[in-house]
Amino acid sequence: MVSSVAGPEIERLIQLLARLPGLGPRSARRAALHLIKKREALMTPLSAALQVAIDKIQVCNTCGNIDTQNPCTVCTDMRRDPSIIVVVADVADLWALERAHATNGFYHVLGATLSPLDGVGPQDLTIDALVQRALDPRVTEIILALNATVDGQTTAHYITDLLQEANVKVTRLAHGVPVGGELDYLDEGTLSAAMRQRTLF
Ligand code: ZN
Repeated sequence: MVSSVAGPEIERLIQLLARLPGLGPRSARRAALHLIKKREALMTPLSAALQVAIDKIQVCNTCGNIDTQNPCTVCTDMRRDPSIIVVVADVADLWALERAHATNGFYHVLGATLSPLDGVGPQDLTIDALVQRALDPRVTEIILALNATVDGQTTAHYITDLLQEANVKVTRLAHGVPVGGELDYLDEGTLSAAMRQRTLF
């Protein structure tokens, strides 16, 4: 039996931290120790922030974003362009696009991508709500900002078919050479996609 170096409260903290993405047991132990050492400066405010998050965070009924208000900050931002809806699989993707200031449109979070192997079907995604939003006459473009994976592209095709009825242009993100990327390091799929989707210089 492995002997424990700390009391059950600390072991519990380590076990919970180890469930976070990107943290294994070893880094969770290091994170726990760091929190304990920085009790006043970090652990107490973190605990308070977690409690606020538990009390206030909710899912936006319009777009599926996570925020402390519903409709969310993005959906209530009147400076945004109501003609554009950017479709993402996950809230993390929405936040990434916002960090990049990549678009001035509104968003729609699907919750996942279609994945027959994992048993994720259309009914598990917010596709019906997206089609409803696309029928709004103000909306003219749906941008599919989905992962360049088989599941992401399967989802993109499925949604494109459903949006035939709506009077909107359906676009997707370009696939190709990353900013700062060197051609020699790219895989064949990325290189050939970049060549197919070349643009006028
Ligand atoms: Zn929203």
